[in-house]
Amino acid sequence: MHLVRTGEGTGRKWLAVALGVAATASCSPEPPDVGTLDALYAEPAEDILILRLTDGQTLGQLLEGSVSYNQQASLLLALREHANPRRMPAGTEVTLRFRQEDQGLRGVDVAVSRDQTVRLTRIDGAWSSDLVRTPIYLDTIHTSGEVESSLWSAVVRNSALNRMHEGDANRLIDALDRVFQWQVDFSRQTRVGDTYRFAYEREIRPDGSMRSGRLLAAEFVNASTAYYAIWFDGNGDGDGSYYDLEGRSVRRAFLRRPLEYRRISSRFSGSRYHPILKTWRAHRGIDYAANRGTPIMATSDGVVVHRAAKGSFGNTVEIRHPNGFITRYAHLSRFRPGVNLGTRVHQTDIIGYVGMTGLAGGPHLHYEILSEGQQIDPLSVDLPAGDPVPSEARRQWLGDMTARVALLESIPGAGPIRTVVVDEEPDEPDGGGAGAQDDREGSQ
Ligand SMILES: [Zn+2]
Repeated sequence: MHLVRTGEGTGRKWLAVALGVAATASCSPEPPDVGTLDALYAEPAEDILILRLTDGQTLGQLLEGSVSYNQQASLLLALREHANPRRMPAGTEVTLRFRQEDQGLRGVDVAVSRDQTVRLTRIDGAWSSDLVRTPIYLDTIHTSGEVESSLWSAVVRNSALNRMHEGDANRLIDALDRVFQWQVDFSRQTRVGDTYRFAYEREIRPDGSMRSGRLLAAEFVNASTAYYAIWFDGNGDGDGSYYDLEGRSVRRAFLRRPLEYRRISSRFSGSRYHPILKTWRAHRGIDYAANRGTPIMATSDGVVVHRAAKGSFGNTVEIRHPNGFITRYAHLSRFRPGVNLGTRVHQTDIIGYVGMTGLAGGPHLHYEILSEGQQIDPLSVDLPAGDPVPSEARRQWLGDMTARVALLESIPGAGPIRTVVVDEEPDEPDGGGAGAQDDREGSQ
């Protein structure tokens, strides 16, 4: 969908991307915003050629071959309303926009700053100009991969994504982490041979950097168990949520872990890829190595019942949760201001920061979940929290879900997805094989 063909060795790149651009009035003091993320599965609407001014090159020289001499005069005149064509620094990005039907030149965008663009439009042979916010294009990335060491390296080294800016790849991983944060601890549960695939719709600037994005659908197969997160926004107001294939919320009463996946380091771990110092079995808690100052999230809603130094635990926060659980966060460098004894906190609220107070060999977070005073494995707590797709939105959900699953299935090399989830432990005594394909049988 992007990068259709490459030009004559001048670093010219043809991009076919869809445009989410609104017409704008000229001379408004505050340039209007021209990009919003409301299209889904954006399709190419026009072909785009991105050029950059080289040192000493004039805009006229750059446009040679693309815009006739007569046209150039009219174009530069229009440009002068908003910018001085003679003062364009090297590197200025100029985007030529062509109609897909006949490849006729439809417009020229000159990026006068990172966020402001002069948009030149040709109407009936004459050029006019508007100052707009740098336009944003929409596209959808579909990709898949297999874990060889960590999810992070599997995504970052994915050849389909290697044109991505590094910061953008990190945002992608964060997005995956966020939709799976209730089900999978990527730092602890990822296994060699796990697979992932996802479809991610994003807004990109003409230079390919990402402005924003949204995961539309994702699959993570962990030790043969498939997890799904499908975006659904029934009202279309951008305030949607993620569900599994059966329309159940991916949300749970507890996050799988109190730190963001990407903040957890493997530096102190004995094994090469394992960022965890010890398993909970060894000392009834889980240690996450992370830099000092890394924010710590409450894994569930609750009330702070301890916030002070606590022997070898050092600075410790304990939170009591409605369902009788207590979570404990130890060795903090400091507490978050405002988090005090009796403070009510919500899941994902920051409560403090990683440190090495108490008995700690290096900065890390010691995390425990206690039930009736006994430490339990956080992975054993799996309480549903979010509401399922409301019944009145069910029809729409089935349509959206099917379309988004099809995006995942369209990834080359990826197999079909059974849209009826088979639970890991089927309740039916005689399963009779995988049998029924699309009849929903009441699996819990
Ligand atoms: Zn520990």
